[in-house]
Amino acid sequence: MYDPLVDSDIGVAMPYPASYWATTEVVNRHATPYNKLSTDIDTDVVVIGGGYTGLSCAYQLASHFSREVTLLEANQIGWGCSGRNAGFVLRGTGRLGLAQLSEKFGLDIAKGFHQEYSAALALVGQMIDSGNIDCQRQQTGYLKVAHKAALVESLRQQATYLQQQFGYQAEFLPAQALTERYMQNSQAYGALRFDDCYGVNPLALALGYARMATETGAKLYSATPVLSWQRSRSGGFVLQTPEATVRCKQLVLATNGYTPNRFYPALNKACLPVLSSIIVTSPLTEQQLAHSGLWHNQLVMDTRALKYYYRKLPDNRILFGGRSAVYGKDAEQPVYPRRLLQALTNCFPMLEGVCTDYHWSGWVAVSIDDLPRVCQAEPDLFYAAGYCGSGLSFSTQAGKRLAQLCMGQALPALPLYQGPLKPFPLPALRRVGQQAYYQWGRFSDRFL
Ligand SMILES: Cc1cc2nc3c(=O)[nH]c(=O)nc-3n(C[C@H](O)[C@H](O)[C@H](O)COP(=O)(O)OP(=O)(O)OC[C@H]3O[C@@H](n4cnc5c(N)ncnc54)[C@H](O)[C@@H]3O)c2cc1C
Repeated sequence: MYDPLVDSDIGVAMPYPASYWATTEVVNRHATPYNKLSTDIDTDVVVIGGGYTGLSCAYQLASHFSREVTLLEANQIGWGCSGRNAGFVLRGTGRLGLAQLSEKFGLDIAKGFHQEYSAALALVGQMIDSGNIDCQRQQTGYLKVAHKAALVESLRQQATYLQQQFGYQAEFLPAQALTERYMQNSQAYGALRFDDCYGVNPLALALGYARMATETGAKLYSATPVLSWQRSRSGGFVLQTPEATVRCKQLVLATNGYTPNRFYPALNKACLPVLSSIIVTSPLTEQQLAHSGLWHNQLVMDTRALKYYYRKLPDNRILFGGRSAVYGKDAEQPVYPRRLLQALTNCFPMLEGVCTDYHWSGWVAVSIDDLPRVCQAEPDLFYAAGYCGSGLSFSTQAGKRLAQLCMGQALPALPLYQGPLKPFPLPALRRVGQQAYYQWGRFSDRFL
């Protein structure tokens, strides 16, 4: 598997991974083949990367600012994280909750984050509605589940904190209410419920964004990797693709966790690509649904350091995800889907015997301070990256913010928009650090 920390060649025209999403009828009905770029062009803005960040940016530039914009994607639209994620449309990004943000930056700034997260959720909803995107949007609800009794009190306090400081009605569910309403999970002791998050088919969403961008005049090309780019002596940039040279005034990097090694060293050194894996089971029987309590469409994530996340899909399969291999070359090893299935049946012993019908992985981009950045890195060069595995809603907002930056507009005074990502102190040792974190996480999830 392509490994961005090792490979400087992302490939060309690679098919979608063998994910559940790529097989869904709603994806196949709407998939429009995009062409590769085979003639030289001049354009105002080039966006590199056909995920939510790039597609949203291209859409905003074309529809709101009438810019001439060209998006170049190495493989297929939504081939990166955007077409292979779990489809949790969540409130927030990065790995810091509002209490942690408040501690770090103060309550007023944390309130600014809260507003921005609301705007991101609203933007995804607007895109789905105005673009009439058929992405299997599910009923709302996201449960953050305490995997240990000792963590229940902290969830109760978080609910009170969110209600009092942010006016946000998070609901605390003690163990009994959680069991009665949502799940017979032997490792669930209580939960915090967010009422405005929901599940979608992520690849259908990406294809919907692509259609909207195209309809407003953006030019989208797949099978067109940018092999190299440099500044032109006459201003702007010159990009080389396998069959064409592209000139542009402004350049947006929307390559996030898939940024090839040495593509833009300042960005490469500031992201750690981390694999996350998903399994999708065979459809549950009526009896399994009833016994597990998983008859609903709530999104679920637990409080582990090495988190598990799961949801029921429209055809009664369970999507279950979590940590995977450290190196891309190990991603396909059977031990990883096996571990996920074991973790699922440890939580829900009544599901013993369900099969894994699909398994795939993707690279999330982790930043050193657990927050993404949307920035102008240099004159006329912009990027957004580092969502730490929680980027579905925020990358859509990031694309909009990138478009505003390209137009010279000021962004809200939030750390998300103040400067580039910080480099990791010893970039060459990132994976050693990741392995150490996994060891600690395993220990802490079991014993602390
Ligand atoms: C298994 C998994 C589960 C996840 N689940 C969730 C979830 O449920 N909710 C959530 O909020 N977030 C989730 N995420 C994270 C979320 O998917 C990402 O934050 C989001 O999709 C990032 O979008 P993006 O457009 O920035 O990047 P991507 O979608 O990764 O797009 C980057 C694109 O750039 C292209 N590219 C790279 N280099 C070049 C080049 N040189 N030339 C041309 N193209 C190039 C790649 O091919 C790729 O398509 C998950 C991620 C994974 C891997």
